[in-house]
Amino acid sequence: MTSLAERLESVKNSISEAESEFGRAPGSVKLLAVSKTRPPEDIRLAFAEGQTAFGENYLQDAIEKITTLSDLNLEWHFIGRIQSNKTRTIAEHFDWVHGVEKLKHARRLSEQRPAEMPPLKICLQVNISREQSKGGLLPEDVADVAAEVAALDRIDLAGLMAIPAPCNNPDEQHIPFRELRLLRDRLATDALPLETLSMGMSGDMRAAIAEGATIVRIGTAIFGPRAHKTDT
Ligand SMILES: *Cc1c(COP(=O)(O)O)cnc(C)c1O
Repeated sequence: MTSLAERLESVKNSISEAESEFGRAPGSVKLLAVSKTRPPEDIRLAFAEGQTAFGENYLQDAIEKITTLSDLNLEWHFIGRIQSNKTRTIAEHFDWVHGVEKLKHARRLSEQRPAEMPPLKICLQVNISREQSKGGLLPEDVADVAAEVAALDRIDLAGLMAIPAPCNNPDEQHIPFRELRLLRDRLATDALPLETLSMGMSGDMRAAIAEGATIVRIGTAIFGPRAHKTDT
């Protein structure tokens, strides 16, 4: 049995190794610990090991944890599916939102972001594998939406996010990540650098780092297997 602290350490080591192996600057890949379905105590344990950024999918659970853990200086990322009637709660509680796939949602998040908070950092989600069931903008639609989102007052458009179709072949895992990076490279301008590439989970983190991920979203490899709850 390994402890949470040991697993977290091992994930951090894997990130550092991949950074050096693939010529990425040390520290250029940020670890987002995906704490969905985990109790607040697990988040405290990870925080005690130096982890400050946490990702949540289920809004009600997330708000409870954010409230319970308000004594810690944590950075909260909403990575779940966004519902229009929940944008205010998201805008009021989170630092980042990764799965923005509609201009309407971005507009609402901007309008509802409290004035005393910094602009909300968001990533546009791209359906890079063109799966019927998956959320996200089709690659050809990202440019127009990005231009409009970039103009919103209370939103800081940080970059792009994707959840490729699951794939166990390490070589093939590179393909969608590379496509997301190339899409970003085509769209990036001096005014809108789109520096963030939120891509890579427990099973495909190495390939994502090789292809330019700046945030990897890791749950299972840190916290252990989850009791199944379908989402994403
Ligand atoms: C659950 C989830 C993750 C983490 O997945 P693991 O395989 O447990 O690392 C990452 N991103 C999103 C959007 C998720 O929903």
